[in-house]
Amino acid sequence: MFRAIVIDKNADGQTCAVRELDDSALPAGDVTIAIEYSTLNYKDGLAIAGSAPVVRSFPMVPGIDFAGEVIASEDPRWPVGKRVLLNGWGVGERHWGGLSARARVSGDWLVALPDGMSARQAMAIGTAGYTAMLCVMALQKHGLKPEDGDILVTGASGGVGSIALMLLKKLGYSAWAMTGKAGEEAYLREIGAAGVMDRVEYQKASRPLERERWAGVIDCVGGTVLAHACACVRYDGAVAACGLAGGMDLPATVAPFILRGVTLYGIDSVMCPLSRREAAWQQLATLLGTADLEANTREIGLDEAIAAAQGLSAGQHVGRFLVRV
Ligand code: NDP
Repeated sequence: MFRAIVIDKNADGQTCAVRELDDSALPAGDVTIAIEYSTLNYKDGLAIAGSAPVVRSFPMVPGIDFAGEVIASEDPRWPVGKRVLLNGWGVGERHWGGLSARARVSGDWLVALPDGMSARQAMAIGTAGYTAMLCVMALQKHGLKPEDGDILVTGASGGVGSIALMLLKKLGYSAWAMTGKAGEEAYLREIGAAGVMDRVEYQKASRPLERERWAGVIDCVGGTVLAHACACVRYDGAVAACGLAGGMDLPATVAPFILRGVTLYGIDSVMCPLSRREAAWQQLATLLGTADLEANTREIGLDEAIAAAQGLSAGQHVGRFLVRV
């Protein structure tokens, strides 16, 4: 028997509770993992609150990521005792996920925990941190160097934004935090922001081109904020767009792209190829230490995770929730 959060649906709507399950309930898959830690991501908030159609079949164990140890396997790449992590692949949406003491998945979806990284450290980073790394890698691949100028990070106090600030600082970039939480300026500077600005300014529509301000942007917010940020990127700069916390739309013009050669990169963590995932996790292991992660993480148990997730999509929290399953 093991404990898991289970989302179900009946005539009255969606329910969500911690339940005791039997191993025989686990879905098909060739590797079974004893999960040590999972985490709460924006998407888990939407799934548990039922505020967006994230869950594709019921009953569903939510949790888009986890880390732990292989306890049964038919896949020679993942022997019993191997320590692994997983992000995405529809886990927690179409396939039972990580807010559970046990998971059974395809071996194709697993990544080995980098040497020296614990399951707890991996999930303090979680899908949010891995996505932040993918965004930073896109800007690096574009050729942006610290001397090219400031990088803007939107949704800065959230999971992706806060880890993006840490990573950029470690790599020598000057990163500016855009936030809706004026009271978090000291925290944002502490984790790596060179400067902090209120998002209100970018929630207003911009002209097609505004003053060239940013060498690059990591955007977690979408909508008017992303459109406004694109209009403020310098010639030949780049924007890595990963989120929609502020909206799904993009009310932009083509001016930044055709008159300033700005490049807009889309970042997807869910179906990202294995080689890029592994590269991201190796860099994360090198760049982030325990002290960085502790500053940003609150550890909670499975029983507290439902209430925490329900508050997540309101955007009022700061940093990351680590879930001890
Ligand atoms: P969080 O909920 O931790 O953070 C989101 C942040 O966005 C908030 O803390 C807040 O920051 C800001 N925000 C919230 N509501 C609004 C709003 N209405 N308008 C403008 N800003 C707002 O989420 P994550 O950091 O985990 O994820 C950020 C985004 O990235 C989400 O949309 C998520 O779905 C997406 N994502 C995408 C992935 C991918 O593969 N592409 C993977 C992981 C996440 P502040 O108050 O500081 O402005």
